[in-house]
Amino acid sequence: MTVQGKRMVGASDIAAGGAPGGPAADSGEAARGLAWFDHIRSLAVDHRLTIDPDCYELLWRYVRDEDHGLSLAVDTAIALGSFDGETITRLRHEHGGDRRGEVNALVAAARNQADGLTRRIEAGRSDLADYGRAIADGGARLETPLDAAALAGLLGDLGSATATMQAANARLESELAAAATEARALAAQLGKAERAAITDPLTGVLNRRGTFAALGTAQTTARAAGDELAVAMVDIDHFKRFNDRFGHALGDEVLRFVSSRLADCVAPLGGIVGRLGGEEFIALLPGHDATAGAMVIDRVRAQLAGQILRNAADGSSMGRVSFSAGIAADNGAEDGDALVARADRALYTAKRMGRDRVVPDRG
Ligand code: GH3
Ligand code: MG
Ligand code: MG
Repeated sequence: MTVQGKRMVGASDIAAGGAPGGPAADSGEAARGLAWFDHIRSLAVDHRLTIDPDCYELLWRYVRDEDHGLSLAVDTAIALGSFDGETITRLRHEHGGDRRGEVNALVAAARNQADGLTRRIEAGRSDLADYGRAIADGGARLETPLDAAALAGLLGDLGSATATMQAANARLESELAAAATEARALAAQLGKAERAAITDPLTGVLNRRGTFAALGTAQTTARAAGDELAVAMVDIDHFKRFNDRFGHALGDEVLRFVSSRLADCVAPLGGIVGRLGGEEFIALLPGHDATAGAMVIDRVRAQLAGQILRNAADGSSMGRVSFSAGIAADNGAEDGDALVARADRALYTAKRMGRDRVVPDRG
């Protein structure tokens, strides 16, 4: 099942208007954060959960509906009365929240491998020392005159010491080759785990953690070069309605579709796209101020809003999907959170103004 975008001539306007949803949409990011925190607190009290960082992280993702599969699983566990610490551990495992466990396992494997290698090298060193002793002993025996039988004995001893050493060398060589193969496989696994830890599994773009890391890097680079950097907060309009009408599977396809449209547009400009969670994306646009960044994102918005989405399974129309966006430019002084908060405020202005529009932050 995929969503196909089809250009439509003379498209009418997306239904718009009204204040954005959510109890604290008007009072900004801080108030929304507190509302989420209150929600987490009441879940912890109701289900007698012990709050530790792992549990908090899962509840945080749940109350923000960052991963719909996870939200459904938590709702189910709550309905069944089985939402407890054990369930949280299982859900973290099933929904990608315990990458730390995977990375720890890889680190343990690497440590084992290093220990094994040290033991093999120690064994090699002691083989070499034995051989050295055999040679020295042979040398000492040569200092006194030897008859033919003694010479033959000495040569025999040296020959067998050499054979032992050759066998030890061959063993060490093949063990080192095996260790190198193992190390390469481990490094590849570690690289994969590292990438997975910063990738949103649904859309393949950066996840929240990866996005903020990329933002920090982009700020450092832009400031060092004296360049502009624009950050766009993008939020799909009335996405809940879309889900309610067409189901979450097609909603997921729309998330993939929108993120790939954003990425197709900003990547050639050196930009990066990340998914903050739910139907919220960020685009980083190096070399753009808020006005130039807004023009780039508005191109994607106009293209998307002018298309009818069709269910590839049966060709049926799912209407149009639009997004709103707020853009802020790095001012060289604030951290990533503050920059994103300004873009978020501009986004909420866009929502209040009727959605399906891009609003640059005015500082
Ligand atoms: P607004 O225009 O004000 O942004 O309205 P909205 O409906 O887009 O915003 P709201 O925050 O009320 O709803 C967001 C919806 O996004 C609710 C949730 O079900 C849906 N959602 C969040 N994550 C996912 C996901 O991974 N997949 C799908 N299909 N839906 C998701
Ligand atoms: Mg939203
Ligand atoms: Mg939305």
